[in-house]
Amino acid sequence: MSKEEIAQGVSMEIAFGETGTKFSHQGEFPLSATCICGGEGRMAFVVYERSGHGTSYICDMHKNEPGNMWVHDAIAVAVYLCRKCLKPITICNQA
Ligand SMILES: [Zn+2]
Repeated sequence: MSKEEIAQGVSMEIAFGETGTKFSHQGEFPLSATCICGGEGRMAFVVYERSGHGTSYICDMHKNEPGNMWVHDAIAVAVYLCRKCLKPITICNQA
């Protein structure tokens, strides 16, 4: 399967704002995260893959091997935006 076919088969959903905290594959995402500038990042949205949706997953795009790390299962990514500098902060977990 080509990388283009893999990308076309990925199905992700979006949960906006604080409702996104529960769309994690592990414990709930926190409501805020600390930016590298020291500011507080507020929850913007979570994008996530669910088992049984789509024909491929982000993890199919690259091999996971020593020195070439990649996720091994469906992922959920929480995106926060810093109140001081507006940089995005992300927290990712996998099933
Ligand atoms: Zn910042």
